[in-house]
Amino acid sequence: MTTTTDSLTGADAATDVIRSDEIPPVIELRDVTRSFPGPPEVQALKAINLTVADGDYVSIVGPSGSGKSTMLNILGLLDRPTVGEYRLAGELTGGYTEDERAAVRARRLGFVFQAFHLMPRRTVLENVLLPMLYSGTPRGERTDRARAALERVGLGHRVDFLPGLLSGGERQRVAVARAVVTQPRVILADEPTGNLDQATTADIMALFEELNAGGLTFVVITHDQHVADRAARRIRIADGRMSELS
Ligand code: ADP
Ligand code: MG
Repeated sequence: MTTTTDSLTGADAATDVIRSDEIPPVIELRDVTRSFPGPPEVQALKAINLTVADGDYVSIVGPSGSGKSTMLNILGLLDRPTVGEYRLAGELTGGYTEDERAAVRARRLGFVFQAFHLMPRRTVLENVLLPMLYSGTPRGERTDRARAALERVGLGHRVDFLPGLLSGGERQRVAVARAVVTQPRVILADEPTGNLDQATTADIMALFEELNAGGLTFVVITHDQHVADRAARRIRIADGRMSELS
């Protein structure tokens, strides 16, 4: 979008009003490079440009060591680009303090990891309650919301269990409930089915797709070609460079 230099101030103002009504993409990476100093220095990501719209379902594939987790860590505000810009929901994140990054992470993002990362001595319900401590969810709503999230993933009958008593698939369902309970805009998943068998993988994929149909945006890293192929949009990273597959 360009504005001619001789346009009137009023016309510019009108254009700005229209622009502010447009919904910005939920994720926007501009020329993002991430270097680890070493030695030897590693450029884990090289000049990445990526736009993800609300409701997208994106899979990211690529060999081990190609930069996938680095990309997800940056998207998740767990790491920062060395060079380039990251806008989340239209806001530049580069100037955020650590507290602001944590707050935005808690409100807008949900994470699902290969190893589930549940607290072993907490019940299923307590695990799902945990992220709401930081997300601004009113105290009186938290238990109902956690129970509803667990119902949604089919684990309403397991709320009082400890994670160790659950199967791998059930643990990942708890992790998904924990990721969605704060009503984030985006779910970031790093090898979410890497520890699951084929049947359970299909269950988790079906759950992601159901949540995506409800409008939630997904970015899913996977080694599993079948998982990748189910995504509406597929991205490949090789040696820190990104390409769109289709
Ligand atoms: P992937 O998830 O695709 O397997 P990563 O994003 O984890 O790859 O890693 C990409 C590259 O960056 C690798 O060469 C890795 O060794 C390097 N790397 C990742 N994290 C760090 C770090 N904290 N310090 C140094 N090098 C790192
Ligand atoms: Mg990785």
